[in-house]
Formats: sequence, structure tokens, C-alpha cells
Amino acid sequence: MNYLSDTITKPTEEMMASIQHAALGDDVYGEDPTVNRLEEFAAELLGMESACFMPSGTMANLASIMAHCPRGSKVLVGDESDIYIFEAGGASVCGGIMYEPIPTQPNGELAIQDLEKVFPFDPEDPQFALPALICLENTHNRCGGKVLSLSYLKEVYEFSRKRKIPIHMDGARLFNAACAAGVDVKEIMQYADSVQFCLSKGLSAPIGSIAAGSKEHIKKVRTLRKMLGGGMRQVGIMAAPALVALEKMTSRLRDDHTRAKKLAQGLSSIPGIKINPEEVETNIVIFTVDEDICTWQRFLALNENQGLIFSEMGYGRIRAVIHRHISDDDISSTISTVRSVIEIEMTQTV
Ligand SMILES: *Cc1c(COP(=O)(O)O)cnc(C)c1O
Repeated sequence: MNYLSDTITKPTEEMMASIQHAALGDDVYGEDPTVNRLEEFAAELLGMESACFMPSGTMANLASIMAHCPRGSKVLVGDESDIYIFEAGGASVCGGIMYEPIPTQPNGELAIQDLEKVFPFDPEDPQFALPALICLENTHNRCGGKVLSLSYLKEVYEFSRKRKIPIHMDGARLFNAACAAGVDVKEIMQYADSVQFCLSKGLSAPIGSIAAGSKEHIKKVRTLRKMLGGGMRQVGIMAAPALVALEKMTSRLRDDHTRAKKLAQGLSSIPGIKINPEEVETNIVIFTVDEDICTWQRFLALNENQGLIFSEMGYGRIRAVIHRHISDDDISSTISTVRSVIEIEMTQTV
């Protein structure tokens, strides 16, 4: 069983068939009808003016940040965010933008008082690089798939209006957030100026992300996409399965969440594994193993020998991501395998 990531999901049969029959054109000229349909449909779902199909979430975040932030400005990012940790420093390299890491609360939030501290007392003072954007991550990967509450989003939104800077949401798993909170994605998006979400994760499309925002913002994103080398030609080939993902795959995320909860409950009954199943809200399960029993490196290796792939998310936290290729039976057998791995380790350490 491979719990490495929900990015490993393969396209469905229907997605593969959609590729065969997709109407195609040159998207750099805006002439691929399938891409145009996808972008219109995505914008409508999100309740935003405009959307742009992107090759990856990383490029979607980068183009969005560069569209919002002038060179020499600061982007406020969580110190545990994907943008800060896993995106190769793109905003600094390509945009001349400074990352300001903000402490991430265990529930994935950035505290308003921590955001407040970054704003200089006198913005007219030429010594300061000025904050130009706040980035939030929803659901929050390294916090274990936590969903940002609507009340928190409203609070940050009001703060951002007061400070006159926009909010970009890294919503790689935005539909997981909406599903877990039982709300429409539009309700979440009313509190952000732009967003990116991944089609290639739990939604199971092979490739792609959507960047969305105002017409003016997306016009800039489109130019940046071309500049970054992401302008593609008959890309309806990728947009067709993405449309299937958006039309057919959002409601099934609930099953992943139920299985994640089951996995967490099972793991919590194993001695030496620390996890609170109450804290599992979506498809990501993060736990730690008592170091006196087994180091995390050894835990990963021993489980891999049994065909179980997990990953590490910093500070020895082990991550399991539930996706379409993990069944109820897989969850049960995973729990018993992990239990036997730990039991053998315990008899050896006594
Ligand atoms: C996966 C992910 C991304 C990046 O998406 P890619 O398509 O892999 O580039 C960005 N943010 C978060 C939170 C992610 O999980």
C-alpha cells in the first residue's frame, strides 16, 4: 500500500477515454475549447471571475505570488507551508520577492498578532521591504490536513482589508477542505483574492492545477505562466481528464476522509504510536513513533519491507495520505502490519 501522497493517483477509465475525444486547439492563442471549458467551469465553481489552467500547483502558486507582489516586497507565508518549504524558493529566485516565514499554529492557522508584527510602524520609511501578500494553506499539509475554519478565514480577510494587502490561498486540497467542512468551495473563496487548487491529487487527474482570481489578476498570471514556460499548446489533452475530475471526483473525497479516520483510530491503539484521531479532519494522517521503540528512519524502512510506504514531514513526523487506491481492507491490513512491526521492535528493545 502506497501512502506516499495523493499525487500518485492514476486517471480513471473515463478520464483516459475523455483524452481520446477531447476537442483541441492551441491554448497559447486561447484556442483550445476543452481548456476554455475547464477554466470557465472552474471559475464558476469557485465563484471567482476568472481561472487559468496551470501545469502544476507550484507554478500556479509562483505565478499567483508574482502577480500580486512587486520586486523587493515581502510575501507572508507559514513556516510550515508548502510554498515556503517545498517550492524551491521560486518567488525569491524568479520574482525578487522576500519570504517572511510566520509561525504556523498546530491547526494550520497564522495568528493575526504574528502577521501584524511584520508590518513596519512607518511604511513610508525607505528602510523596509513592505508586505504585499498573505498566503494561507487549506487544507494544511504539514499540520495533518487541517481545515481552516470559515471564522478564521473571515478574521484574516478583515485584517488584510485593514492592511490593504491581498490573500492568496494555496488550496492544493481545497475540495478536501470544502468536503470536510460541509460547505461549498465558494464559501471558502469569499475570503481570498486568489487561489490555486490541484487537479492531480485526490481528484485523480493526471496533471494540472487551476489558478483563479479577478480578471485582472488572471491576466497577469497568464503572462507569467508563459514567461515561466508553462504556456502549452493542445493541452485539452490534459484539460479533458481535469474536467472529469472536477465534475465527478469531488464528492468521493469523503471516502478518503472516512478511511483516514479509521487508519488514525487503528494506529492510536498501537503502543508507542502517538496520534489523536480526533485531530484527523481530511485525508492526511500524521503520527509519531516513540523513539525508544524505533527511530522514524527505521520505522519507514521496516514498513517498506512489508510493502507499506509512508513519508516523513519534518521533526520525525510520519505522514500517510489516503487516496482513491486505498480501500477499507487496505486500512485494516495496514493497521495489523504496523502493529506487528512495532511489536517485534518492542521485544527486541526490552
Ligand atoms: C502538492 C502541493 C502543492 C504543489 O502542487 P504540485 O502540483 O505538486 O506542484 C502546493 N501546495 C500544497 C499544500 C501541496 O500539497
